[in-house]
Amino acid sequence: MNNCINPSKFTFYFFTLSNLHIHSKLPDVGTTIFTVMSSLASELNAINLGQGFPDFPMNEDLISLVNEAMKKGFNQYVPMQGYMPLRECIAEKISFLYNTTIDPAEQITITPGGTYAIYTALTTVLQPGDEVIIFEPAYDSYIPNVVINKAKPVLINLKFPEYKIDWEEVRKKITPKTRMIMLNSPHNPTGTVLREEDIQQLRSVVANTDILILSDEVYEHLIFDNLQHQSIIRFPDLLQRSFVCFSFGKIYHCTGWKLGYCISSPIFTKEFRKVHQFNCFSCNSPTQVGLSKFLQHKTAYLALGKFMQEKRDYFQQLMSATKFNALPSYGSYFQVYDYSRISDESDTEFTLRITKDFGVASIPVSVFYKSGKDDKVVRFCFAKKNETLEKAVERLIKI
Ligand code: PMP
Ligand code: GLN
Repeated sequence: MNNCINPSKFTFYFFTLSNLHIHSKLPDVGTTIFTVMSSLASELNAINLGQGFPDFPMNEDLISLVNEAMKKGFNQYVPMQGYMPLRECIAEKISFLYNTTIDPAEQITITPGGTYAIYTALTTVLQPGDEVIIFEPAYDSYIPNVVINKAKPVLINLKFPEYKIDWEEVRKKITPKTRMIMLNSPHNPTGTVLREEDIQQLRSVVANTDILILSDEVYEHLIFDNLQHQSIIRFPDLLQRSFVCFSFGKIYHCTGWKLGYCISSPIFTKEFRKVHQFNCFSCNSPTQVGLSKFLQHKTAYLALGKFMQEKRDYFQQLMSATKFNALPSYGSYFQVYDYSRISDESDTEFTLRITKDFGVASIPVSVFYKSGKDDKVVRFCFAKKNETLEKAVERLIKI
Protein backbone atom coordinates (compact mmCIF):
# COMPACT_ATOMS: atom_id res chain seq x y z
CA MET A 1 0.00 0.00 0.00
CA ASN A 2 1.29 3.45 -0.86
CA ASN A 3 0.93 5.71 2.15
CA CYS A 4 2.55 8.77 0.58
CA ILE A 5 0.45 11.91 0.29
CA ASN A 6 0.49 13.47 -3.13
CA PRO A 7 1.30 17.16 -2.27
CA SER A 8 -0.59 18.71 -5.17
CA LYS A 9 -3.71 16.72 -4.36
CA PHE A 10 -3.41 17.63 -0.68
CA THR A 11 -3.17 21.37 -1.48
CA PHE A 12 -6.22 21.11 -3.70
CA TYR A 13 -8.36 19.44 -1.03
CA PHE A 14 -7.16 21.84 1.66
CA PHE A 15 -8.00 24.86 -0.50
CA THR A 16 -11.46 23.53 -1.29
CA LEU A 17 -12.25 22.63 2.31
CA SER A 18 -11.15 25.99 3.70
CA ASN A 19 -13.71 27.68 1.44
CA LEU A 20 -16.58 25.54 2.60
CA HIS A 21 -18.91 26.64 5.33
CA ILE A 22 -22.33 25.75 6.66
CA HIS A 23 -25.02 27.88 8.27
CA SER A 24 -25.49 26.49 11.74
CA LYS A 25 -29.02 25.31 12.38
CA LEU A 26 -28.38 25.78 16.08
CA PRO A 27 -26.16 28.86 16.31
CA ASP A 28 -26.97 29.49 20.00
CA VAL A 29 -26.16 26.00 21.19
CA GLY A 30 -22.90 24.89 22.80
CA THR A 31 -21.91 21.58 24.39
CA THR A 32 -24.52 20.19 26.83
CA ILE A 33 -24.07 20.83 30.53
CA PHE A 34 -24.06 17.06 31.15
CA THR A 35 -21.04 16.60 28.91
CA VAL A 36 -19.31 19.64 30.40
CA MET A 37 -19.84 18.62 34.04
CA SER A 38 -19.04 14.93 33.46
CA SER A 39 -15.79 15.85 31.67
CA LEU A 40 -14.86 18.24 34.48
CA ALA A 41 -15.69 15.62 37.10
CA SER A 42 -13.52 13.04 35.40
CA GLU A 43 -10.67 15.50 34.82
CA LEU A 44 -10.68 16.52 38.50
CA ASN A 45 -11.52 13.08 39.80
CA ALA A 46 -14.61 14.54 41.46
CA ILE A 47 -17.65 12.52 42.55
CA ASN A 48 -20.18 12.93 39.78
CA LEU A 49 -23.66 13.73 41.09
CA GLY A 50 -24.20 15.82 37.95
CA GLN A 51 -25.19 13.80 34.89
CA GLY A 52 -28.11 11.45 35.49
CA PHE A 53 -26.73 7.94 35.32
CA PRO A 54 -26.58 5.20 37.96
CA ASP A 55 -23.14 4.08 39.15
CA PHE A 56 -24.48 0.81 40.60
CA PRO A 57 -24.68 -2.38 38.54
CA MET A 58 -27.78 -3.04 36.48
CA ASN A 59 -29.88 -6.18 36.86
CA GLU A 60 -27.81 -9.36 36.26
CA ASP A 61 -30.79 -11.29 34.87
CA LEU A 62 -31.34 -8.69 32.19
CA ILE A 63 -27.65 -8.83 31.25
CA SER A 64 -27.90 -12.64 30.96
CA LEU A 65 -31.04 -12.42 28.82
CA VAL A 66 -29.31 -10.06 26.39
CA ASN A 67 -26.18 -12.26 26.31
CA GLU A 68 -28.37 -15.25 25.64
CA ALA A 69 -30.15 -13.41 22.82
CA MET A 70 -26.80 -12.62 21.18
CA LYS A 71 -25.62 -16.19 21.55
CA LYS A 72 -28.89 -17.48 20.08
CA GLY A 73 -28.25 -15.38 17.00
CA PHE A 74 -30.53 -12.37 17.47
CA ASN A 75 -27.96 -10.13 15.87
CA GLN A 76 -29.62 -9.01 12.67
CA TYR A 77 -32.19 -6.31 11.98
CA VAL A 78 -35.50 -6.58 13.75
CA PRO A 79 -38.50 -4.94 12.07
CA MET A 80 -38.40 -1.17 11.71
CA GLN A 81 -41.27 -0.79 14.24
CA GLY A 82 -39.40 -2.87 16.85
CA TYR A 83 -39.26 -6.51 17.94
CA MET A 84 -42.90 -7.61 18.12
CA PRO A 85 -42.69 -9.67 21.35
CA LEU A 86 -41.24 -6.61 23.09
CA ARG A 87 -44.05 -4.41 21.80
CA GLU A 88 -46.55 -7.02 22.98
CA CYS A 89 -45.01 -7.02 26.46
CA ILE A 90 -45.20 -3.23 26.59
CA ALA A 91 -48.88 -3.36 25.60
CA GLU A 92 -49.50 -5.95 28.31
CA LYS A 93 -47.75 -3.85 30.91
CA ILE A 94 -49.84 -0.84 29.92
CA SER A 95 -53.03 -2.80 30.19
CA PHE A 96 -52.01 -4.02 33.66
CA LEU A 97 -50.77 -0.65 34.97
CA TYR A 98 -53.01 1.87 33.26
CA ASN A 99 -55.99 -0.18 32.17
CA THR A 100 -55.63 1.07 28.60
CA THR A 101 -55.57 -1.07 25.47
CA ILE A 102 -52.71 -0.25 23.11
CA ASP A 103 -52.23 -1.98 19.79
CA PRO A 104 -48.61 -3.17 19.68
CA ALA A 105 -48.70 -3.34 15.89
CA GLU A 106 -49.94 0.17 15.26
CA GLN A 107 -49.20 2.26 18.34
CA ILE A 108 -45.78 1.33 19.69
CA THR A 109 -42.46 2.09 18.01
CA ILE A 110 -39.16 1.08 19.59
CA THR A 111 -36.57 3.87 19.38
CA PRO A 112 -32.91 4.33 20.21
CA GLY A 113 -33.70 6.09 23.51
CA GLY A 114 -36.14 8.65 24.82
CA THR A 115 -34.31 11.67 23.37
CA TYR A 116 -34.67 10.25 19.87
CA ALA A 117 -38.35 9.46 20.43
CA ILE A 118 -38.97 13.09 21.44
CA TYR A 119 -37.00 14.49 18.50
CA THR A 120 -38.78 12.19 16.05
CA ALA A 121 -42.22 13.10 17.40
CA LEU A 122 -41.46 16.82 17.08
CA THR A 123 -40.03 16.38 13.59
CA THR A 124 -43.10 14.37 12.60
CA VAL A 125 -45.56 17.13 13.42
CA LEU A 126 -43.91 20.54 13.43
CA GLN A 127 -44.17 22.96 10.53
CA PRO A 128 -42.25 26.25 10.32
CA GLY A 129 -43.85 28.88 12.52
CA ASP A 130 -45.73 26.44 14.77
CA GLU A 131 -45.63 27.31 18.46
CA VAL A 132 -44.71 24.78 21.11
CA ILE A 133 -45.34 25.41 24.80
CA ILE A 134 -42.39 24.35 26.93
CA PHE A 135 -42.25 24.61 30.71
CA GLU A 136 -38.97 25.75 32.22
CA PRO A 137 -36.75 24.54 33.75
CA ALA A 138 -36.84 22.19 30.75
CA TYR A 139 -34.77 19.19 29.74
CA ASP A 140 -32.00 20.50 27.54
CA SER A 141 -32.99 18.90 24.23
CA TYR A 142 -36.51 20.36 24.00
CA ILE A 143 -35.80 23.89 22.76
CA PRO A 144 -33.14 22.87 20.19
CA ASN A 145 -35.46 20.10 18.93
CA VAL A 146 -38.20 22.67 18.32
CA VAL A 147 -35.86 25.28 16.81
CA ILE A 148 -34.25 22.83 14.38
CA ASN A 149 -37.75 22.21 13.01
CA LYS A 150 -38.16 25.99 12.46
CA ALA A 151 -40.92 26.12 15.06
CA LYS A 152 -41.09 28.57 17.96
CA PRO A 153 -40.65 27.59 21.62
CA VAL A 154 -43.14 29.45 23.84
CA LEU A 155 -41.62 29.37 27.29
CA ILE A 156 -43.50 29.29 30.58
CA ASN A 157 -41.77 29.17 33.96
CA LEU A 158 -42.92 26.55 36.43
CA LYS A 159 -43.85 28.43 39.62
CA PHE A 160 -40.84 28.49 41.91
CA PRO A 161 -40.21 26.93 44.42
CA GLU A 162 -42.94 24.25 43.98
CA TYR A 163 -42.26 24.08 40.23
CA LYS A 164 -45.98 23.83 39.48
CA ILE A 165 -47.63 24.62 36.16
CA ASP A 166 -49.45 27.95 36.08
CA TRP A 167 -52.43 26.92 33.96
CA GLU A 168 -53.74 30.48 33.76
CA GLU A 169 -50.50 31.49 32.07
CA VAL A 170 -50.83 28.53 29.72
CA ARG A 171 -54.27 29.76 28.69
CA LYS A 172 -52.88 33.23 28.04
CA LYS A 173 -50.04 31.90 25.88
CA ILE A 174 -52.23 29.76 23.63
CA THR A 175 -52.58 31.25 20.14
CA PRO A 176 -53.96 29.91 16.85
CA LYS A 177 -50.38 28.83 16.10
CA THR A 178 -50.02 26.64 19.22
CA ARG A 179 -49.30 23.17 17.89
CA MET A 180 -48.06 21.33 20.90
CA ILE A 181 -47.62 21.33 24.68
CA MET A 182 -44.59 19.46 26.04
CA LEU A 183 -44.92 17.79 29.43
CA ASN A 184 -42.42 15.89 31.53
CA SER A 185 -43.40 13.84 34.58
CA PRO A 186 -41.57 12.82 36.74
CA HIS A 187 -39.72 15.98 35.92
CA ASN A 188 -36.08 16.56 35.16
CA PRO A 189 -34.44 18.58 36.76
CA THR A 190 -36.88 19.20 39.66
CA GLY A 191 -38.36 15.81 40.54
CA THR A 192 -41.92 17.22 40.56
CA VAL A 193 -44.77 15.14 39.17
CA LEU A 194 -48.05 15.94 37.45
CA ARG A 195 -51.11 15.69 39.69
CA GLU A 196 -54.68 14.76 38.83
CA GLU A 197 -55.66 18.44 38.82
CA ASP A 198 -52.97 19.12 36.19
CA ILE A 199 -54.55 16.51 33.95
CA GLN A 200 -57.98 18.13 34.39
CA GLN A 201 -56.49 21.52 33.52
CA LEU A 202 -54.67 20.09 30.51
CA ARG A 203 -57.87 18.50 29.33
CA SER A 204 -59.75 21.77 29.51
CA VAL A 205 -56.93 23.72 27.80
CA VAL A 206 -56.78 21.41 24.77
CA ALA A 207 -60.53 20.75 24.48
CA ASN A 208 -61.89 21.90 21.12
CA THR A 209 -58.41 22.70 19.79
CA ASP A 210 -56.01 20.80 17.54
CA ILE A 211 -53.20 21.14 20.08
CA LEU A 212 -51.04 18.03 20.41
CA ILE A 213 -49.21 16.79 23.51
CA LEU A 214 -45.70 15.46 23.84
CA SER A 215 -45.41 13.64 27.14
CA ASP A 216 -41.88 12.78 28.23
CA GLU A 217 -42.27 9.91 30.70
CA VAL A 218 -38.74 8.55 30.70
CA TYR A 219 -38.84 8.37 34.52
CA GLU A 220 -42.02 6.24 34.54
CA HIS A 221 -42.05 4.02 37.68
CA LEU A 222 -39.54 6.27 39.47
CA ILE A 223 -42.25 7.97 41.50
CA PHE A 224 -42.32 8.22 45.28
CA ASP A 225 -44.49 8.63 48.37
CA ASN A 226 -47.29 6.43 46.98
CA LEU A 227 -48.12 9.00 44.34
CA GLN A 228 -49.71 7.72 41.16
CA HIS A 229 -47.92 8.31 37.86
CA GLN A 230 -50.31 10.45 35.82
CA SER A 231 -49.29 8.88 32.54
CA ILE A 232 -51.07 10.34 29.54
CA ILE A 233 -51.67 6.71 28.62
CA ARG A 234 -54.29 6.52 31.38
CA PHE A 235 -56.44 9.02 29.51
CA PRO A 236 -57.55 7.79 26.07
CA ASP A 237 -59.04 11.20 25.19
CA LEU A 238 -55.61 12.79 25.71
CA LEU A 239 -53.64 9.90 24.29
CA GLN A 240 -55.30 10.30 20.90
CA ARG A 241 -53.56 13.69 20.55
CA SER A 242 -50.27 12.65 22.17
CA PHE A 243 -46.85 11.18 21.62
CA VAL A 244 -45.72 9.52 24.85
CA CYS A 245 -41.99 8.83 25.12
CA PHE A 246 -40.20 6.31 27.35
CA SER A 247 -36.66 5.13 28.07
CA PHE A 248 -35.56 1.61 29.02
CA GLY A 249 -32.08 2.96 29.77
CA LYS A 250 -33.35 5.28 32.49
CA ILE A 251 -35.62 2.86 34.27
CA TYR A 252 -33.48 -0.28 34.09
CA HIS A 253 -30.25 1.48 35.10
CA CYS A 254 -28.52 1.05 31.75
CA THR A 255 -28.50 4.56 30.29
CA GLY A 256 -25.77 3.53 27.84
CA TRP A 257 -28.11 1.12 26.09
CA LYS A 258 -30.10 4.00 24.58
CA LEU A 259 -33.31 2.14 23.99
CA GLY A 260 -36.83 3.53 24.41
CA TYR A 261 -40.18 3.74 22.71
CA CYS A 262 -42.95 6.04 21.62
CA ILE A 263 -46.67 5.41 21.97
CA SER A 264 -49.22 7.30 19.94
CA SER A 265 -52.45 6.89 17.99
CA PRO A 266 -52.30 4.62 14.91
CA ILE A 267 -52.51 7.63 12.57
CA PHE A 268 -49.74 9.57 14.29
CA THR A 269 -47.63 6.43 14.67
CA LYS A 270 -47.79 5.90 10.91
CA GLU A 271 -46.33 9.37 10.37
CA PHE A 272 -43.80 8.94 13.20
CA ARG A 273 -42.51 5.78 11.53
CA LYS A 274 -42.05 7.57 8.21
CA VAL A 275 -39.48 9.80 9.90
CA HIS A 276 -38.01 7.02 12.03
CA GLN A 277 -37.49 4.57 9.14
CA PHE A 278 -35.16 6.94 7.31
CA ASN A 279 -33.19 7.94 10.36
CA CYS A 280 -32.43 4.95 12.53
CA PHE A 281 -34.59 2.36 10.72
CA SER A 282 -34.46 -0.25 13.49
CA CYS A 283 -32.89 -0.52 16.94
CA ASN A 284 -30.43 -2.85 18.58
CA SER A 285 -31.81 -6.41 18.40
CA PRO A 286 -30.40 -8.39 21.35
CA THR A 287 -31.43 -5.76 23.90
CA GLN A 288 -34.99 -5.84 22.55
CA VAL A 289 -35.08 -9.63 22.73
CA GLY A 290 -33.67 -9.60 26.29
CA LEU A 291 -36.11 -6.93 27.44
CA SER A 292 -39.06 -8.81 25.95
CA LYS A 293 -38.31 -11.65 28.39
CA PHE A 294 -37.44 -9.39 31.31
CA LEU A 295 -40.63 -7.32 31.08
CA GLN A 296 -42.71 -10.42 31.69
CA HIS A 297 -41.65 -10.24 35.36
CA LYS A 298 -43.82 -7.58 36.92
CA THR A 299 -41.59 -7.39 39.98
CA ALA A 300 -38.81 -6.02 37.80
CA TYR A 301 -40.68 -2.79 37.18
CA LEU A 302 -42.92 -2.72 40.25
CA ALA A 303 -39.87 -2.55 42.55
CA LEU A 304 -38.23 0.38 40.78
CA GLY A 305 -40.05 3.23 42.55
CA LYS A 306 -39.36 1.94 46.05
CA PHE A 307 -35.71 1.31 45.21
CA MET A 308 -35.21 4.86 43.95
CA GLN A 309 -37.25 6.37 46.79
CA GLU A 310 -34.84 4.74 49.24
CA LYS A 311 -31.99 6.45 47.38
CA ARG A 312 -33.75 9.80 47.62
CA ASP A 313 -34.47 9.32 51.32
CA TYR A 314 -30.92 8.25 52.10
CA PHE A 315 -29.41 11.17 50.20
CA GLN A 316 -31.82 13.63 51.81
CA GLN A 317 -31.02 12.29 55.26
CA LEU A 318 -27.27 12.62 54.63
CA MET A 319 -27.71 16.11 53.15
CA SER A 320 -29.53 17.33 56.27
CA ALA A 321 -26.08 17.65 57.88
CA THR A 322 -25.03 20.22 55.24
CA LYS A 323 -26.06 23.84 54.72
CA PHE A 324 -28.03 22.93 51.59
CA ASN A 325 -31.84 23.09 51.78
CA ALA A 326 -33.77 20.36 50.00
CA LEU A 327 -36.67 21.17 47.72
CA PRO A 328 -39.07 18.21 47.52
CA SER A 329 -38.46 15.50 44.95
CA TYR A 330 -41.37 13.17 44.16
CA GLY A 331 -39.78 11.23 41.32
CA SER A 332 -36.92 10.83 38.79
CA TYR A 333 -33.20 10.50 39.67
CA PHE A 334 -32.94 14.05 40.92
CA GLN A 335 -33.35 16.44 43.79
CA VAL A 336 -32.87 20.19 43.70
CA TYR A 337 -31.09 21.93 46.58
CA ASP A 338 -31.03 25.59 47.54
CA TYR A 339 -27.54 26.81 48.46
CA SER A 340 -28.44 30.35 49.50
CA ARG A 341 -27.23 29.71 53.09
CA ILE A 342 -23.77 29.00 51.66
CA SER A 343 -23.13 31.56 48.94
CA ASP A 344 -24.61 34.23 46.71
CA GLU A 345 -22.54 33.18 43.70
CA SER A 346 -24.41 32.37 40.50
CA ASP A 347 -25.36 28.70 40.30
CA THR A 348 -22.87 28.07 37.47
CA GLU A 349 -20.01 29.67 39.42
CA PHE A 350 -21.06 27.74 42.49
CA THR A 351 -21.20 24.33 40.79
CA LEU A 352 -17.84 24.90 39.12
CA ARG A 353 -16.28 25.96 42.43
CA ILE A 354 -17.62 23.03 44.42
CA THR A 355 -16.50 20.62 41.73
CA LYS A 356 -12.99 22.09 41.78
CA ASP A 357 -12.59 22.84 45.49
CA PHE A 358 -14.70 20.12 47.11
CA GLY A 359 -14.70 17.39 44.45
CA VAL A 360 -18.47 17.00 43.93
CA ALA A 361 -20.10 17.72 40.56
CA SER A 362 -23.74 18.85 40.31
CA ILE A 363 -25.82 20.67 37.68
CA PRO A 364 -26.79 24.36 37.91
CA VAL A 365 -30.55 24.63 37.34
CA SER A 366 -30.23 27.96 35.45
CA VAL A 367 -29.01 26.02 32.38
CA PHE A 368 -32.52 24.63 32.00
CA TYR A 369 -33.87 28.15 31.38
CA LYS A 370 -33.29 29.97 28.09
CA SER A 371 -33.04 33.23 30.05
CA GLY A 372 -30.57 31.67 32.53
CA LYS A 373 -32.99 32.38 35.42
CA ASP A 374 -30.96 31.72 38.54
CA ASP A 375 -32.84 30.77 41.73
CA LYS A 376 -29.64 29.66 43.46
CA VAL A 377 -30.50 26.00 43.26
CA VAL A 378 -28.49 23.05 41.97
CA ARG A 379 -29.52 19.56 40.90
CA PHE A 380 -27.99 16.45 42.45
CA CYS A 381 -28.43 12.95 41.03
CA PHE A 382 -29.09 10.46 43.83
CA ALA A 383 -29.21 7.38 41.54
CA LYS A 384 -25.86 6.30 42.98
CA LYS A 385 -24.41 3.62 45.28
CA ASN A 386 -24.91 4.48 48.96
CA GLU A 387 -21.15 4.71 49.39
CA THR A 388 -20.94 7.26 46.56
CA LEU A 389 -23.65 9.36 48.21
CA GLU A 390 -21.87 9.08 51.58
CA LYS A 391 -18.50 10.13 50.15
CA ALA A 392 -20.07 13.04 48.28
CA VAL A 393 -21.92 14.32 51.33
CA GLU A 394 -18.78 13.99 53.51
CA ARG A 395 -17.32 16.57 51.14
CA LEU A 396 -20.43 18.75 50.91
CA ILE A 397 -20.56 19.03 54.70
CA LYS A 398 -17.26 20.94 54.56
CA ILE A 399 -18.70 23.75 52.45
N1 PMP B 1 -36.06 13.15 28.80
C1 PMP B 1 -35.60 13.45 30.01
C2 PMP B 1 -36.39 14.35 30.89
C3 PMP B 1 -34.40 12.93 30.45
O1 PMP B 1 -33.92 13.24 31.65
C4 PMP B 1 -33.67 12.08 29.60
C5 PMP B 1 -32.38 11.60 30.12
N2 PMP B 1 -31.77 10.65 29.66
C6 PMP B 1 -34.21 11.77 28.35
C7 PMP B 1 -35.39 12.34 27.97
C8 PMP B 1 -33.52 10.87 27.37
O2 PMP B 1 -33.56 9.53 27.62
P1 PMP B 1 -32.59 8.54 26.81
O3 PMP B 1 -31.31 8.47 27.53
O4 PMP B 1 -33.34 7.27 26.76
O5 PMP B 1 -32.43 9.14 25.45
N1 GLN C 1 -30.82 12.85 31.18
C1 GLN C 1 -29.53 12.97 31.77
C2 GLN C 1 -29.53 14.06 32.81
O1 GLN C 1 -30.43 14.84 32.93
C3 GLN C 1 -28.42 13.21 30.83
C4 GLN C 1 -28.47 12.63 29.48
C5 GLN C 1 -27.48 13.35 28.62
O2 GLN C 1 -26.35 13.52 29.01
N2 GLN C 1 -27.93 13.83 27.51
O3 GLN C 1 -28.57 14.14 33.53
